[in-house]
Amino acid sequence: MKYDAIVIGGSFAGLSAAIHIARARRTVCVIDAGQPRNRFAEASHGFFGQDGSNPQTMIAEAQMQLRSYPTAEIVAGEASMAKAVEEGFEVTVGGGEVLTAAKLVLAFGISDVLPELAGLNEGWGKSVLHCPYCHGFEYSGRNMGVLQTNPMAAHQALLIADWGPTTLYLNGGAVPEQNVQQKLAQRGVTIERARIITLQGEATSLSSLSLESGRSVPIDALYLAPRTRLNSKIAEQLGCVLDDGPFGPIIHTDAAKLTSVPGVYAAGDIARAPHNASWAAADGVTAGVSLHQSLVFEPLAA
Ligand SMILES: Cc1cc2nc3c(=O)[nH]c(=O)nc-3n(C[C@H](O)[C@H](O)[C@H](O)COP(=O)(O)OP(=O)(O)OC[C@H]3O[C@@H](n4cnc5c(N)ncnc54)[C@H](O)[C@@H]3O)c2cc1C
Repeated sequence: MKYDAIVIGGSFAGLSAAIHIARARRTVCVIDAGQPRNRFAEASHGFFGQDGSNPQTMIAEAQMQLRSYPTAEIVAGEASMAKAVEEGFEVTVGGGEVLTAAKLVLAFGISDVLPELAGLNEGWGKSVLHCPYCHGFEYSGRNMGVLQTNPMAAHQALLIADWGPTTLYLNGGAVPEQNVQQKLAQRGVTIERARIITLQGEATSLSSLSLESGRSVPIDALYLAPRTRLNSKIAEQLGCVLDDGPFGPIIHTDAAKLTSVPGVYAAGDIARAPHNASWAAADGVTAGVSLHQSLVFEPLAA
């Protein structure tokens, strides 16, 4: 095997795994396609010591730090296939180069499947947001909205009312149960039933929503919990068990971040819910340390 470990995905989770493998003096190759989930946001919030930093700068710094270890490599590109072979795994990168390793860490992240609504994509990560803990404080006291895309929307609206006056936009969808309506009223959340026609605002900011009734309502930030999908088929190719998460599929892992396939670890958004960069990094640490310990202890148990 060329490497002790291949890490597929070089962002918060993958780089956290890789640096622990490299610091344990094992060989590790990170393959990264360079499209982290939060690339639409200019600032990442809440990460220890990095609150407000640009996410791409954070990742570039982490990649630079990893490269300083003699046993670590980063390959820019997309892993297209992975399969188990005798004593390890083969991973095919983009054009056809095949890399081999004793163990794998999957950290290829997820993508958000945004609803089709005029003006929504433009604001994603700026004024159209998924998480108030990541991007709520910046809109304190301003007009907040929650777009109902699934039954969790009312829960999100109850929470977001802590940051500012909140409206739950049903967008023509199901009306919440009576007891949920009561809770929304208790939290001062307004319910708007009309369909949204467009989101309006300058560039990436929001100023109003045009509704089907011809009305226009002021808004500064719109939150939603989109469906998510795994960025790669590699977990399925390897035979990893997937669970149904609240937003989309999640790779099943144990407390050591080991998947159902021996030798394959998974970390970050692909292997947990809820999501943020700190949890992704922490899971990456767990995967990297667990992987290293398996390299030490498995031969002793044989
Ligand atoms: C708009 C937005 C804003 C956010 N803001 C915040 C915030 O302020 N604070 C916070 O804590 N969290 C924030 N998050 C959440 C955060 O982005 C994720 O939790 C975090 O990026 C997950 O890290 P990850 O390493 O699991 O995956 P990602 O960061 O998504 O990285 C996955 C990496 O794998 C690569 N990849 C994918 N497929 C392959 C392949 N086949 N081969 C090789 N590489 C591949 C991708 O290109 C990418 O580089 C935000 C999310 C969104 C959508």
